[in-house]
Order: sequence, then structure tokens, then C-alpha cells
Amino acid sequence: MFDWLVVGAGFAGSVLAERLASQRGDRVLVVDRRPHVGGNAYDCYNEAGLLIHKYGPHIFHTNSEQVFDHLSQFTEWRPYEHRVLAEVDKTLVPVPINLHTINTLYGLDLTSEQLEDWFAARAEPVEDILTSEDVVVSRVGRELYEKFFRGYTRKQWGVDPSELDKSVTARVPTRTNRDDRYFTDKLQYMPAAGYTRMFERMLDHPNIQVMLKTDYSQMREEFGYKRLIFTGPVDEYFGYCYGRLPYRSLRFEHKTLEQEWHQPVAVVNYPMEHDYTRVTEYKHLTGQQHPCTSLTYEYPTAQGDPYYPVPTAENADRYRKYEALARTTEDVWFVGRLATYRYYNMDQVVGQALATFRRIEASVPGANRA
Ligand code: FAD
Ligand code: UDP
Repeated sequence: MFDWLVVGAGFAGSVLAERLASQRGDRVLVVDRRPHVGGNAYDCYNEAGLLIHKYGPHIFHTNSEQVFDHLSQFTEWRPYEHRVLAEVDKTLVPVPINLHTINTLYGLDLTSEQLEDWFAARAEPVEDILTSEDVVVSRVGRELYEKFFRGYTRKQWGVDPSELDKSVTARVPTRTNRDDRYFTDKLQYMPAAGYTRMFERMLDHPNIQVMLKTDYSQMREEFGYKRLIFTGPVDEYFGYCYGRLPYRSLRFEHKTLEQEWHQPVAVVNYPMEHDYTRVTEYKHLTGQQHPCTSLTYEYPTAQGDPYYPVPTAENADRYRKYEALARTTEDVWFVGRLATYRYYNMDQVVGQALATFRRIEASVPGANRA
């Protein structure tokens, strides 16, 4: 008999399993249908001996010291600030759009102040900024929107930015200075020995048992447990009773080249050309030295593993119904990107898991606590 069954060994499930086991002495069974821990953050060494991310590039960044300190119990860190270039009009320029991007693309020599006016002269007035198109055209105008955002977003999401909530493209700011970092969070690091090692250390506790290649739907009758943490898709848990929540998927094409480097930065985005959205070269992220280099091309698809909740008004309405049902389902906690249908980064999922643990502490007596 386990105190808890945790479905999913990604950030949401692993953080909670560790807390329940180490802080309360509870016995925890973690299951994942995949053959590995780590969820979408899983990394591994490929046949050439290069550390790659199986499900696309994962860069850790946060403003939360609480989240950073928590994870620091299970990993050392490698300082890393992420930089991205986009191929636009056959030229590689920094994304987010900054002073250097505009001066390079348009052959100008503007100052930051002049660039503010330059944007203002092109921005289209939008009364109510609601969609992912509104966010960009109201800040930088239609031409830059079409060069940097429209094509990429259509590829990535399979819908026009005008149909997506503003929060999607609002993830990528516009700058008038020369800051070419993708993120501005105060803490930006990669786990020094990789994500998988960090997860292994988190789950390495005598009270935690991990079963991989195990689907919840097939094992739930086999083991006794008192309470459940579910981190898979919430619509799947409820048998799709309100219909399916759409998730966007990706097909990853992994390649190894017999050359030391392929591109100047870790990620190059392709907003205007190709079927793939971006190409990642891992050695920039990991700091690994190797005579070869490994890349991943991301091809967005409608079918496949659920990676991205799709933020539209219709999907938000549907999710709210599942959320109401989840709230009335006793002894089950829904946590993580899929179970709460939120476009969350890793640090946000860790924060959500730690907050869930505090709620559990306040409501569930710790029977095994020493
Ligand atoms: P997941 O990692 O999806 O884990 C859920 C686990 O549950 C999975 O392993 C799944 O197999 C398992 N599962 C589901 N249903 C069942 C079932 N019925 N039975 C058994 N097991 C089940 N975040 C960042 O902060 N920085 C980044 O750079 C970044 N890049 C990303 C790039 C890509 C391509 C993607 C897709 C995401 C990226 N993210 C990034 C987001 C990050 O992956 C997530 O925030 C985080 O991994 C979510 O953790 P989770 O535990 O909620 O879900
Ligand atoms: N985006 C874009 N062009 C870019 C980069 C991002 O149009 O060069 C849009 C696109 O819709 C993307 C969203 O902004 O899905 C969020 O980008 P982010 O890099 O945060 O995506 P993630 O890393 O989560 O896939």
C-alpha cells in the first residue's frame, strides 16, 4: 500500500514525490509511461557521446530564488545566458528584436531613443490588445510582425496569430537597447550534469519507487494507494467527457555532424522559411567539448505527444470545465503543464508543485512523519 501514486516523472511529479517522501515520510510510487524520468526535460548522451535534449532545447531561467534553491539540492549549475538569432531576409539577426536587429536589417545607425520613435511611427493602434497579432503590430508594426512572428507562429501553432491569446507572442519582448539575451531573469543556468541526473538525484529516496513504461490507465487497479498526484493531460484523466483539449506537438529530427560547430548560437529561428521552426546546437547549452556537434530540428505537428496547450478563448472555456471537475475530485491533485493546461516554463511548474505541497501539508495529515 502506497500513500501516494504520482503519475508522471517530469518536474511536477518528481518535485512532489521528493517532498512527500523526504518531508512527510510518505511512501510514494511514481509511474511514467515513457522509458525514462524527466518528462520533457529529459536529456541523454547520443551514440556520438554528445548530451542532447530528446524533446527540444530546455534552458532554465527564473526570478524565483525559492525555486532555484530548491533545485540546487539536486544539481550543480553551469551559468548560461541564452541567445537566439533569427534568419530574416537571408540575414541572421538577434531575437528578441533589439537595436542591433533593426540597424542590421534596415542598414540604419539609430540610437535607442530614435528606435523608440521608429517603432512608434510603424506601430498600428489597437484599442484592445487581445490576440498574439495585436501584441506585435501594436508595438512594432505590420512589416516586422510579418518577418518575425506571423510565419513562425502559423508553423508552430497551426493557426494564425490573430486566433491565439496575446500571451503567446508576448513571451518574446521587443527591446530598444542592445541586450541580446533571450531571457532577462536574474537566475539563468543549465544543470551542470544535465537534467536527467538532477531528476535521478531527486527521486533517489528509500520511500520512492519508480516504475517506467507504465501507463496509469493500465496499472491503477494493480497497486493500492491512498491519494493521487496526476501530471498528465487533464482531459485524458476525465475520459474526454467535455471533449478533447487540443495540444500542439512537435516532431524532433536529431542530427550529428562531423564538424565542431554548426551555428553561432544555441538556437536559430526560421520565421520565414522551411517547415521547421528552429534549430538547436546543444554544445552551446551544455559547454561540452567534442569534435562533432549535435542538432535538433523542430517540426510542429497536430498529432503526437502533447507538448503545448493551445491558448485560445475556446480552449480556455473548455479547460475551465475540467478545472471545476478536478476541484471536486477528492484525494487527487492536478499539477503541471498538462494537468492544468497552462503554457508554463519549468520554473513555473516547480513553483506550482511546491505550492501544491504546501496545500497538501495544510490539509492532509502526515501519518508517517517521524
Ligand atoms: P511533463 O514534462 O510533460 O511530464 C509529464 C509526464 O507525465 C510525462 O513524462 C508523461 O510521459 C507522463 N504521463 C502523462 N500521462 C501519463 C499516464 N497516463 N501514465 C503514465 N505517465 C503519464 N521550459 C523552460 O523553462 N525553458 C525552456 O527552454 C523550455 N523549452 C521547452 C521546449 C519544448 C520543445 C517544450 C515542449 C517545452 C519546453 N519547456 C521549457 C517547458 C517544459 O518542458 C515544461 O514546463 C516542463 O517540462 C513541464 O513539466 P511537467 O511535469 O508539467 O510535464
Ligand atoms: N515567436 C515567433 N517568432 C520567433 C520566436 C517566437 O513568432 O522568432 C512566437 C511563436 O508564436 C512562439 C511564441 O512566440 O510559439 C513563444 O516563443 P518561445 O520561444 O517562448 O517558445 P517555446 O520556447 O515555448 O517554444
